[in-house]
Amino acid sequence: MTTFSVGPSFAVTTGLPRLGNSPLRVRHQSLTDQKSRFRIAHSRYRPRCSVDTSTAAPKSTTETATEQEVHNVVIIGSGPAGYTSAIYTGRAFLKPIVLEGFNSGVAGGQLMTTHIVENWPGTLSITGPELMNQMRTQAERWGAQMITDDCVSIDVSSRPYSVRTVNSGTLLCNSIIIATGASAKRLRIPGEESLWSTGISACAICDGAAPVFQGVPLAVVGGGDSACEEAIYLTKYASEVHLLVRSDKLRASKTLQDRAKAHPKVHIHYETSAIEALGGAGSGEDGMGGSPLRGVRIRENVDGKRVERELKCRGLFYAIGHTANTNFLNGSGVLLTEGGQVATRVPGSPETHVDGVFVAGDVADAEYRQAVTAAGSGCQAAIAAERWLAERGLMVEYAPSPDDNMSSTTGERTREEPEKKVADNAATFDEDETWHVGQFALRKLYHSSKRPLIVKYISPGCGPCSQLKPLLNAVITEFESTVHYVEIDITEDPEIAEAAGVTGTPMVQIFYEKSLMNTFRGVKMKSEFRRAIRETLAESVKSS
Ligand code: NDP
Repeated sequence: MTTFSVGPSFAVTTGLPRLGNSPLRVRHQSLTDQKSRFRIAHSRYRPRCSVDTSTAAPKSTTETATEQEVHNVVIIGSGPAGYTSAIYTGRAFLKPIVLEGFNSGVAGGQLMTTHIVENWPGTLSITGPELMNQMRTQAERWGAQMITDDCVSIDVSSRPYSVRTVNSGTLLCNSIIIATGASAKRLRIPGEESLWSTGISACAICDGAAPVFQGVPLAVVGGGDSACEEAIYLTKYASEVHLLVRSDKLRASKTLQDRAKAHPKVHIHYETSAIEALGGAGSGEDGMGGSPLRGVRIRENVDGKRVERELKCRGLFYAIGHTANTNFLNGSGVLLTEGGQVATRVPGSPETHVDGVFVAGDVADAEYRQAVTAAGSGCQAAIAAERWLAERGLMVEYAPSPDDNMSSTTGERTREEPEKKVADNAATFDEDETWHVGQFALRKLYHSSKRPLIVKYISPGCGPCSQLKPLLNAVITEFESTVHYVEIDITEDPEIAEAAGVTGTPMVQIFYEKSLMNTFRGVKMKSEFRRAIRETLAESVKSS
């Protein structure tokens, strides 16, 4: 057991529009009709007409199909492509199911780890997480049902199609939109594994504000838009930022290149590769903070010769591009390109080589990979899916129920905000309350609370933090009055974050009577938090 102190009094013991012209039995409406009739939030829908199954291909597992609801469309993925598909299919009354993803990547996709977006038409500047949260809310408003879970595999050998998930069983559907995007690549250099999430990160926005990265040299690997953006972002915290570019030029847009080149704290090293992450630091004795990363071994070009040396840096951030998320398609019959993206029948079309299976966004795009192109392709996939369903008489329209209020199947968003948003002080602090913000409350509760104390560490603009928020809020609500909850913004209370060993956000700790019971780094399932809180409550009963 390690003991560390937080200031003088806080000591911690850690242990679409309608387009089909076929003779349909389902009733059609124009998008204009839909718009004029529904201006308010809807998500609990009831079927308005039944399926014409005469044209549907028989399913070998007929029994399963008759027992379980067959959805119009399951959208796999939740970036701008997935959410736009959900908005369009929702507005077509298809009640789309969106598998948002969980362990496979943060719901909302790559924009959840993008700081400022300045090229989204109609918006001068918006953070990535804000933009994605708005898209999600808009999709729910049109009846999309969000499931925070991962897709394991799909079976498109016969209809209805099956979409197998990790925790939510198998979903049956007549069409699928694949919008799983792409994941950040890693270098896989020696030392990376042991320093991952402590000294090395693929998300400068999530982790850059951690106390261990304050006032120390940091390095970013890559030469694209992400690398330049992250290098500039990190200058807020770092003493200097080394941008390690493997070739002799940046490939980022001119605007970002110019900003990086002009920034006095950014040093660009061309023809330089990171070949080993060096650990062994972290004591803070050298006045360089508590990051366990000591530096990075680099190989650079000096006068035509490849030379190796150690570059001192206390944080290493990867921005080296992405790989299409297609593992779950292995053996499904959905064709991939040589580059690993989902292949389409015609370049730029949303149709895959499997009938009724459509694709949108970066998972099929090796060229443009922009939020706006992903959203555009999400719209195309939604229109194509609706046409396809309509032409085959497979579509069931869902009419919104009048008493609807916006909520997802998972209920994750039923409580958006904790009770308080403003940090407690001596005048406002009330120990009987469950929800608290800031270090004043933490110090008080740490010493006097007789309940399990749940502390969440966040940083501004952190996408995974906004994903965790509704999940954890839902759990805290379940345990209301039996637990205490404190939110700590690590940029507001850096000394608390440092003492708690925060190297990235979000992070959650559970304390009971000054003992640290659990630490959770990143976004976790509600069930994990529930289990840990129940165990702590059981402990508290034993000890009382
Ligand atoms: P990119 O694929 O554009 O760039 C990846 C960079 O990483 C390249 O410089 C590449 O080098 C380098 N790289 C790849 N593998 C390695 C490796 N093993 N070792 C060292 N370096 C490596 O990815 P981004 O994430 O930057 O951008 C993806 C898309 O998102 C782009 O279309 C971009 O425009 C967009 N974007 C837009 C932003 C904005 O407008 N605010 C912000 C971020 C992204 P090389 O050039 O030698 O191949």
